[in-house]
Amino acid sequence: MFAGGITLFRKRTSVSWNHSPGMSQPRILLLAATTGYQTRSFAAAAANAGVNVALATDRCHVLEDPWRDRAIPIRFEEPELSAQALAQAENVDGIVAVGDRPTYIAALAAETLGIPWHPPAAVLACRNKHRTRELFEAAGLLVPANFLVPANADPGNAARTAPYPCVLKPVGLSGSRGVIRADDAAEFLEAFRRIGRILSQPDAAREANAGAIQVEEFIPGREFALEGIMTHGVLRVLAIFDKPDPLDGPFFEETIYLTPSREPTAVQRAIETTAARAASALGLWHGPIHAEMRVNERGVWMLEIAARPIGGLCARVLQFRNGTSLEELVVLHSVGRMPEVLEIVKPASGVMMIPVPRAGILESVDGRTEAQAVPGVDDVIITARRGDRLIPLPEGASYTGFIFASGTSGQAVEHSLRTAHSRLHFTVLPALDVLRGAL
Ligand code: ADP
Ligand code: CA
Repeated sequence: MFAGGITLFRKRTSVSWNHSPGMSQPRILLLAATTGYQTRSFAAAAANAGVNVALATDRCHVLEDPWRDRAIPIRFEEPELSAQALAQAENVDGIVAVGDRPTYIAALAAETLGIPWHPPAAVLACRNKHRTRELFEAAGLLVPANFLVPANADPGNAARTAPYPCVLKPVGLSGSRGVIRADDAAEFLEAFRRIGRILSQPDAAREANAGAIQVEEFIPGREFALEGIMTHGVLRVLAIFDKPDPLDGPFFEETIYLTPSREPTAVQRAIETTAARAASALGLWHGPIHAEMRVNERGVWMLEIAARPIGGLCARVLQFRNGTSLEELVVLHSVGRMPEVLEIVKPASGVMMIPVPRAGILESVDGRTEAQAVPGVDDVIITARRGDRLIPLPEGASYTGFIFASGTSGQAVEHSLRTAHSRLHFTVLPALDVLRGAL
């Protein structure tokens, strides 16, 4: 129960929420949905940067305390109450949110604590694909024709009036989950039903705006991502990523990210200025952002902006001079100690988010050593474990791992990533319930 969580938290305040005498290290609240690898890398980055961490996480249902860290229990379903609890903290100098889900609580808590961060309304707008479009349009940005359909509505009328080709997507999910292209009314109706099934899954239903489907005209073009940090409303661009795989649908699995971008300078500047306008349009103010956009002959079309850094382990692809990581930058920025000069070390680097090869139960992954031995490859990390249920897009929500590579050119890095991927072999067994269904 949440009330229990609050009590627990209050009891702990006297123990872990006060600075020890004489201690001058700044302290941050680290808000995370899980205690997974990404959270660990932020905790490690904070330790490296000499910043103390109070972890707040949504795992009240877990009885043990795997980190023995007395994490502060919060509940993403109860953002206001959770933020109130966090706002009682003393000696908090900064806030860092890991992943999308904690961003709203982080924003509310920051507001109450008087710590500069992204405002709650901006964070909510980022997490609502329809609201994002409205704000982009109001700011005069390029926006595809779009409309909203309740997930429980009869889709017949929407299918007749949609601009084809179009993309259907749940308003409040992320990671391309439930994002489906439709080229005609029949595909629209099929996609609509499929998204309806995804939205009825317990984890999806928990998300905000789970009952609505955004329909928008398909934007042809090349796709990019931009990593940045905002300071009192001003965007500082850390990197632009090319996504060299065509993302034409019907599903939109992200695979390769390469930086620096190979686009001409004028295109890169246009991406930067459009992202800055889009971030302001959403009301984003202070803290990391991860923006995605498409570019075609008409200009830069923003897809969305998240009020957080790049997800998963991908942050590792950015390494700054002096060994500073992106996580460290985010932590330092949150306590007002962001370095003035930032230089990316590698001439070119990239990451492949290893897609789910097919649905089933993961039995084994072979070839990791061979993949790791490919020239230019820095690391191959398999995050899926034996026995895990693998679900491809559009239903699935995770990758099986990450390949990191670096080199002298984007082309070389892309080649290393693809070669390494071809060395990996996944053995995936059919899931029992699928087998039963087939009998
Ligand atoms: P999510 O939050 O799930 O990542 P996005 O809106 O970013 O949702 O969509 C995921 C991907 O789907 C995008 O990266 C892009 O490749 C594709 N996509 C989304 N909307 C459009 C669109 N209107 N036109 C073309 N592609 C789109
Ligand atoms: Ca996205």
